[in-house]
Amino acid sequence: MNNNLKLLFAGVIFSFSLVANSQEAKKVDKTDKSLLCVGNYWTESQGKSFLETQRQKYTSQKEWESRAQQIRQHILKGTGLEKFPKKCPLNAIIGEKRVYDGYQVQNVAFESLPGVYVTGSLYTPTTSKGKLPGIISPHGHWSKVGDVGRYRPDAQKRFAAFARMGAMVFGYDMVGYGQMGELGWKHDHPEVLKLQLWNSIRCLDFILEMGADPQRIACTGASGGGTQTFLLTAVDQRIKVSVPVVMVSAYFFGGCVCESGMPIHKDDDYQTNNVEIAACAAPRPMLLVSDGGDWTKNNPVVELPHLKYIYQLFGQADKVQNVHLPNDKHGYDVNKRAAVYPFLAKYLGLDVKKAINADGTVKEDMIVIEDQKALYPFDEKHPFPASGIKSNDGVKWDW
Ligand SMILES: [Zn+2]
Repeated sequence: MNNNLKLLFAGVIFSFSLVANSQEAKKVDKTDKSLLCVGNYWTESQGKSFLETQRQKYTSQKEWESRAQQIRQHILKGTGLEKFPKKCPLNAIIGEKRVYDGYQVQNVAFESLPGVYVTGSLYTPTTSKGKLPGIISPHGHWSKVGDVGRYRPDAQKRFAAFARMGAMVFGYDMVGYGQMGELGWKHDHPEVLKLQLWNSIRCLDFILEMGADPQRIACTGASGGGTQTFLLTAVDQRIKVSVPVVMVSAYFFGGCVCESGMPIHKDDDYQTNNVEIAACAAPRPMLLVSDGGDWTKNNPVVELPHLKYIYQLFGQADKVQNVHLPNDKHGYDVNKRAAVYPFLAKYLGLDVKKAINADGTVKEDMIVIEDQKALYPFDEKHPFPASGIKSNDGVKWDW
C-alpha cells in the first residue's frame, strides 16, 4: 500500500469511527446519569429557592402556559414519547362481575401496545344512570408480600368507596407488579418510566371506551402513584381533576427508576422539579394531600403557595387545595382518603354521603377486601393470550 492509499484508508477508518463514536455518544446520552435528578436531589432550601427564582419568570398566565408547555415537552422527550406510538386496539379481556354492597368488581387486562398487557380491576356502582365520572388510580411501591400495590386494603377501600360514590374506577398495576410480575415482567428496568406513562395514557383510553364521562375524569394515587398522577396530568389534558397524594415536593424527585430514571427534570439549559410538573394541572382542580412524616412535610408553606401563585395567574387560586396531616405518615391511609372523598365528590359530582358519615369519619365497613389472586385477570376462563409478552425486553414500540 503506498503512502497516499494508506492515508486515505486511515481517513476512512477515522471517519467511520467518528460516526460510530457519535452514535455511541447518543446512546450514552440517553442514560446520561448527569441528567437525572434522583431522590433527595436537592436540599429543602435549594428546592425552596428554585421555586422563588422560577416565580419571577412567569408573571402572567401566558408566561406560565409557555413554561408549562416546555415542561410537558421535556417529560415527553425525556421518556422518548415525543412521538406517540400507534394506538393499538385495547382488546380488553374483562372478567365476571363480583357484586358487593353498592359496588361491583371485574378484573381487566388490555393491550397498551401489541402484546403488552395492562392489568387491573374495574370498580363500578351497582346502580347508575347516565355516564359515570371516571377515576384511574395508580399505586406506589408497596411490595411486601401480602401488602402489595393495588391489592393493599387501603387501595381496595378507595377504589370501592369511589365506585359506591358513583364513579367508574380503574385500579391498575405498575409495570412488573401483580400477575405480570409473576409472568416475568420486572419493575426495575431502565425504560419503565416510559412504559408506565404510556400505560396510564392507555388506561384513560380504556375507561373512555367503557363509557366514562370525558368531562369528569380524575387521577389519584399515593407516593409512586402520586408521581404517576402528576406526570399523566401534565401530559394528558383528558385528566380534569388531579389528586397526587404524599408526593409533590420541591426537593425530593422520587427515588425509583419509574419516577426519575429517565431525564424528565433536567436537560441542557433546563431544570424543573415536581412542583412545576404538578402545576401543569392548572387551572384544573387539584388537591395535594401531605403529611408530617415525609418529603411533603413543607407543603403548606412551600409547595402550596407556589401552586396557588400559578393558579392565581388564571384567576383560579381556589382550584388548588392542600390537606396537610402533620401527625400522619406516608401512605393513602384513612385520613388521606377522608380528605380525598369530598374533593372528588365536589368536582366529579359524586355522592359523598356514600363514603363519609355525618361525623366526618369514613364509611368503608361494608367494603370487602379481596385476596390478591382474586384480582388477577388471567385465569382458566381467561387465559393469557399466546401473543402476550412476558418480559420488558419483548416490548416493541410500534411507531
Ligand atoms: Zn417505580
